[in-house]
Amino acid sequence: MSIDVPQDILDELTDVPMPKVTAAETAKDSCQIGDMTLPLYRCGTLVIGSGAAGLRAAVELHRRDQSVLIASMALYGGTSACSGSDKQTLHTAGTSNHGDDFKSLAHALGVGGCMDLDSAYIEAVGSLHTLAGLQYLGLPLPVDRFGAVLRYQTDHDDVGRATSCGPRTSRLMVQVLAREAVRLHIPVLRKCEVVRLLVEEIAGKRQVVGALAIDLEHREHHFGFIVIHCANVVLANGGPGELYRDSVYPAHCYGGLGLAIEAGIELTNLTESQFGIGTRRSEFPWNLSGTYVQVMPYVFSRDAAGKEYNFLAEYYRTTRELVSNVFRKGYQWPFHATRMLNFGSSLVDLAIAIEARRGRTVFLDFNRNPLPGADGRAFSLGELDADVAAYLNNNEACQELPIERLRHMNPLAIELYRMHGHDLTKDPLPFNVNNQHMNGGVAVDIWNESSLAGCFAVGEVAGTHGVTRPGGAALNAGQVSGVRVAEQIASRKTAPPTHSMTANSVAEIARTMAIATHALANTDGLDIAQTRDAIQARMSDYAGFLCEIAEVPRAYAEAQALRTDVLQRGFSCTRPAQLIEVFRWRHLVLASEAVLAALNYYINQGGGSRGARAYLSKDGTQVPDSQRGVLEDYRFREERTADREYKLVLRWLGDGFSIEQRALRQMEDLGRIFFEKNWSFYLTGSVYQKNFQHR
Ligand SMILES: Cc1cc2nc3c(=O)[nH]c(=O)nc-3n(C[C@H](O)[C@H](O)[C@H](O)COP(=O)(O)OP(=O)(O)OC[C@H]3O[C@@H](n4cnc5c(N)ncnc54)[C@H](O)[C@@H]3O)c2cc1C
Repeated sequence: MSIDVPQDILDELTDVPMPKVTAAETAKDSCQIGDMTLPLYRCGTLVIGSGAAGLRAAVELHRRDQSVLIASMALYGGTSACSGSDKQTLHTAGTSNHGDDFKSLAHALGVGGCMDLDSAYIEAVGSLHTLAGLQYLGLPLPVDRFGAVLRYQTDHDDVGRATSCGPRTSRLMVQVLAREAVRLHIPVLRKCEVVRLLVEEIAGKRQVVGALAIDLEHREHHFGFIVIHCANVVLANGGPGELYRDSVYPAHCYGGLGLAIEAGIELTNLTESQFGIGTRRSEFPWNLSGTYVQVMPYVFSRDAAGKEYNFLAEYYRTTRELVSNVFRKGYQWPFHATRMLNFGSSLVDLAIAIEARRGRTVFLDFNRNPLPGADGRAFSLGELDADVAAYLNNNEACQELPIERLRHMNPLAIELYRMHGHDLTKDPLPFNVNNQHMNGGVAVDIWNESSLAGCFAVGEVAGTHGVTRPGGAALNAGQVSGVRVAEQIASRKTAPPTHSMTANSVAEIARTMAIATHALANTDGLDIAQTRDAIQARMSDYAGFLCEIAEVPRAYAEAQALRTDVLQRGFSCTRPAQLIEVFRWRHLVLASEAVLAALNYYINQGGGSRGARAYLSKDGTQVPDSQRGVLEDYRFREERTADREYKLVLRWLGDGFSIEQRALRQMEDLGRIFFEKNWSFYLTGSVYQKNFQHR
């Protein structure tokens, strides 16, 4: 029996229209910077970014009667609005059949290490009400006739806690949250990029007091510079997708690391990123997980002369082993070094990377079954590993061709590529292994407040994602943290500032604006496009999922030299419209150096392969095998489990980074929390105090 879903239903889940948002009223105040008068906005909390995390924070703040302003460089840009996969996943406590156990979910979130235990528990307990909130706003999560949300198994998930609205879950989340923001009349600066956070020392404590931004909708005066004066900032500006050449992020994801670095905010876990197979950014960036590979398309490569290679047959011993591992990439999507061993599923990623190094392009062909592997046996649905056969049988997906199996299991997956100009029913799909997610980021406490007082971080920019986040946990983290920061900020009862900006902030604004004027007059500055290409190539070639230990120190030194050059010489900018690029690439120069500094430190301390990075070394103790023999060039250093117990914390010192190891925060004894004993702590607001502990 095949699933017959009418076209209009498929369209609604793939072609997701976004609500119209009217621009915030123009600023009522102004701020004098030398002889320039800049528009001045005032608000209680500035939310930077309008992805799923930022919108959730803004909506929850408004609901708690907080004054909030959203500034976003592209209202419906970023990963939430523009990324996805076959079934883009949301990972929450299981709500079907027999419920879940928060401690066990917290364990699953943090099991790969480097995740504070209290944060993992917070994400576990918060997952249910934040999911319910999205349902209340109209997110079309599939349920059974008893109302239980349908679930399946995803990456790093032994239980089956994943759910999905289809390929565009996160865009649908943005849609319902943006509708709510419109309904609540939350003011939005729709094309406004924050270029500098403003920081003051107040009572001996560094505190955020505002931001300098470029409002791209009003560039007629002073290049569009505006000042925002506020009591709190929520960084919701996403991950650094532009860091890598091989990246499945949508275009123009610069992330919030650079902004945080310049403000002296601590960052953590920058060694941890996620890599996996997807279509290339030069075409349509999309993850190829789930059913795209579970239907077992023919994976082949093609050289410049047009010759095809059934290259996976060089690696796996039998057809059955080959196709079963292609299938497993469906729920073992991110690369993991240990899965290169014992003919596991990450040998597929390694083989693809080797093909790319040979100058070949790799394709998925949904119109052909896999060709025979090394044992010469023809592909047969009757000869699959037991887990693969069970999945296909359970889903009645035993059609003759991969495209038929895909149409049966997930017609949206075909529809999506058709919408973006690629007909999977006709043409093979080129793809490669890409950078997809930054698991590290801004170091935060249990309320997602950073080391800079009043400055919070939510979503991907927060460094809370551990080493092996289960698929869908990123979107969950963004929702939970959005609610948590709103609760914390509301508990402080902060109002929008009414006083003038201090001389210190005015001087900082003037210094930052001078970077722009200097770039326009600078004939001896660095070229922005060349700098971008240099950073992206270095990151993909030396800090990718295959990371040569011997190459990292040189790559790090080059990144440091580039940063020195950029900070001393600056960029050359030929026209005012290009000015924004100057700030973006200053930030990414710093972010790239920070990642390489962390990698360099980690491997110098003896750290080994974990998460989605294999650290290659001749001295490594593990080496992947292939049916043609040992792959000596890919010998790698093993993970030391003790390293899971701490985070690396970085801070910008003005001419380099300080790096320290910090132990993970542990979990309190939950057995001490009882209703009557703890009720008053909630009623009096004690639970929101930073040093509060249940007793
Ligand atoms: C291909 C792909 C598939 C994925 N699949 C999954 C999945 O199945 N499950 C899952 O959990 N996660 C998945 N992820 C990760 C997940 O999509 C992201 O972690 C999440 O969407 C990030 O949301 P966010 O709100 O933090 O950031 P984003 O959605 O990226 O939003 C960032 C916002 O900040 C704005 N912005 C950036 N810089 C500035 C600035 N300086 N000033 C003002 N505004 C700024 C942008 O315009 C944007 O509005 C996937 C990612 C990719 C790339």
